Amino acid sequence: MTETATLERTSLAGLTRSELGDALRALGIPEREIRMRSSQLWHWIYFRGVRDFGSMLNVSKTLRERLDEAFTLDLPEIVEEQVSTDGTRKWLLRMPPVDAHDKGAEIECVYIPESDRGTLCVSSQVGCTLNCTFCYTGTQRLVRNLTTREIVGQLLVARQKLGDFPDRKRPTDGLVPSGEGVRAVSNIVFMGMGEPLYNLENVEAAVDVMADGDGLSLSKRRITVSTSGVVPQIEKLGAGCGPMLAISLHAVRDDLRNELVPLNRKYPIGELLQACRDYPGASNARRITFEYVMLKGVNDSAAEARELVRLLKGVPAKINLIPFNPWPGAPYECSDWETIERFSDIVFNAGYASPVRTPRGRDILAACGQLKSETEKLRARARLAVE
Ligand code: SAH
Ligand code: SF4
Repeated sequence: MTETATLERTSLAGLTRSELGDALRALGIPEREIRMRSSQLWHWIYFRGVRDFGSMLNVSKTLRERLDEAFTLDLPEIVEEQVSTDGTRKWLLRMPPVDAHDKGAEIECVYIPESDRGTLCVSSQVGCTLNCTFCYTGTQRLVRNLTTREIVGQLLVARQKLGDFPDRKRPTDGLVPSGEGVRAVSNIVFMGMGEPLYNLENVEAAVDVMADGDGLSLSKRRITVSTSGVVPQIEKLGAGCGPMLAISLHAVRDDLRNELVPLNRKYPIGELLQACRDYPGASNARRITFEYVMLKGVNDSAAEARELVRLLKGVPAKINLIPFNPWPGAPYECSDWETIERFSDIVFNAGYASPVRTPRGRDILAACGQLKSETEKLRARARLAVE
């Protein structure tokens, strides 16, 4: 098939209900049938995960043929898969081109299996416009926001690859949770590449598709959007699709946070915490997660742990301590284990759950903050050695 032909036939996999309706309208389907036809397609694409129109048995043969002529069910392409010794998988995905000038953006997506759950860490942008000094993604210039289809496409690829649709087989080369009713992907975190709140509209639409009970069926309590602190968008997120919220705090004083998370100069800690107190839907049952990366000698003192506890008074919070994950040329080191434990104890004794996030997939640069694609150079990414 020529490139032009591929461009003309766009994929329906990853669209919202209303986009799906528009696609059917464009095909000339009468208005009175749009709802019913959209529901049929929705079931096959999102509940069953089928990859060809021919399998859609309750759709007439003529319509299946017309759909096949006009559209595809293509998913982002897995350009490279790396499987860590701990079962974490990192996929480098190439998105189908959005127009004739687009060469197909590349992004990374990470799957983290545990015994009772499987978490997919999705990207919301190619690169990031923000430059947090400890984050590898921040060194990649932003190419563009991902579309809703491209965000949902990451979950579809994962479910496809992990046999996580009805009547499929789970892979045996790694730890993928299995058992009656246990989904391989049970949780989503928007903690991959990019700042989700700078792509709010598409992220919200993607959350709605992922949470739709007739399709992908993930509970919104199992979908977490992480932000470096785009204050005006936090309220919109809560009032809109309302997923769980995570805040990348990383420092308890504005002077240090200005340095680590430069966005803090625009939205300082006080304003950020106020937005958290006001987050619609936050409660003791739905706590906000505060992420705190442990940087040796930078933000890891006992005094800072005590200040963190003081700052979070009145916010329904969980604190997630993240050992710093190194990347080539990083200007920081990870705090010593004893220092992390001391910090964690102070937070714990003040009544907060303070799990230390076990670094997963470090050997394949799949851990937090280690994601970066080379889309800006428009070529497949060279493998980077971590040590
Ligand atoms: N842009 C969003 C979401 C992506 S980053 C945000 O900043 O929240 C996901 C998490 O990984 C954030 O908490 C981020 O601060 C953290 N992170 C970034 N680089 C890291 C690194 N090298 N080691 C550990 N955590 C890191
Ligand atoms: Fe962007 Fe988040 Fe990385 Fe900061 S930590 S550079 S906001 S991806």
